[in-house]
Amino acid sequence: MIVIIKPETTEERIGEIVKHIENAGVQAHVSRGTDRTVIGIIGQAEPTLSEHLRQLKGVENVIKISKSYKLASRDFHPDDTIIDIKGVKIGGDNLVIMGGPCAVESPDQIDEIARLVKAAGGQVLRGGAFKPRTGPYSFQGVGVEGLKMMADAGKKHDLLTITEVMTPEYVDVCAEYADILQVGTRNMQNFDLLRKLGTIKTPVLLKRGFSATYDEFLNAAEYILAGGNPNVMLCERGIRTFEQYTRNTLDLTAIPVLQQLSHLPVISDPSHGTGRRELVEPMSKASVAAGANGLIVEMHTDPDNSMTGDGVQSLFPDQFAALLKDLEKLAALVGKRFDTEKASAEDFATWKI
Ligand code: PEP
Ligand code: MN
Repeated sequence: MIVIIKPETTEERIGEIVKHIENAGVQAHVSRGTDRTVIGIIGQAEPTLSEHLRQLKGVENVIKISKSYKLASRDFHPDDTIIDIKGVKIGGDNLVIMGGPCAVESPDQIDEIARLVKAAGGQVLRGGAFKPRTGPYSFQGVGVEGLKMMADAGKKHDLLTITEVMTPEYVDVCAEYADILQVGTRNMQNFDLLRKLGTIKTPVLLKRGFSATYDEFLNAAEYILAGGNPNVMLCERGIRTFEQYTRNTLDLTAIPVLQQLSHLPVISDPSHGTGRRELVEPMSKASVAAGANGLIVEMHTDPDNSMTGDGVQSLFPDQFAALLKDLEKLAALVGKRFDTEKASAEDFATWKI
């Protein structure tokens, strides 16, 4: 249920309305939007509550919401959520670019890639220290040492960092080193992990399960929000279809649909979404044209020798830089802010690894 507040209602009055809601034994979540303030109600309310609230001074309307997710829904929070991480804004009109290797491999590798991400105009360094591999004998990541390597590279090159966390026990250590925690596609419904992420405030990038519906995806986000962490971004990373040519089918439709259903930022992952380097550029552009709030793109200085199989979908640094230059023009066309002014072409003539 949501309560729509009349314009020009005082804060004091809103506080009184909240008291009426809480006295009924349910939770009130106030969202102050540019156009209107709404109060979302969570919990099992008595059927008479909606009539009671409708009659209160300052209440314009009370609407029943039938969706199973509430806090993730745009009904509860009409304005876009903008997550501000050390001055980098994610959501709304801002376009954020996250780039880096599939996995952190060594201090030199992550340092050199961080330099190139920054030089291209990216704002966030990606890299997995814990890798969710399909097979148990594949390289599983360098672990906590990798978190440290990435944090050092991020600090040195003035980039935010994002890394994947797979289990509740590792949430605290990952949050100690990284600015954003990624939940991978295979863990979208790892409810213990989601609950644990709800207890902290570190922003979370939640990837869509490769067979998850929009409803299931938004309910997974709801777990984190319901726990008390409002800083969630949704990531479309491709779903499993009958098509074998691509690794996954990047569901571009998910971008506007999720933005209609939810206020959370939507990030697209054209690397895992296609699994093929030559498709990353066109699908990055298509994602931005469809309204994505950002991209997470794999880039590697030596993709042929990358320690995960994801070299085949990793851009070379010069391709990554050229893509970001084009995205700057595209962003302007679709009303997004993205500035690669600081990018320097010379940095892309050579790289160390
Ligand atoms: C990754 O980002 O490297 C990754 C493993 O992603 P996904 O969970 O989408 O497969
Ligand atoms: Mn990968």
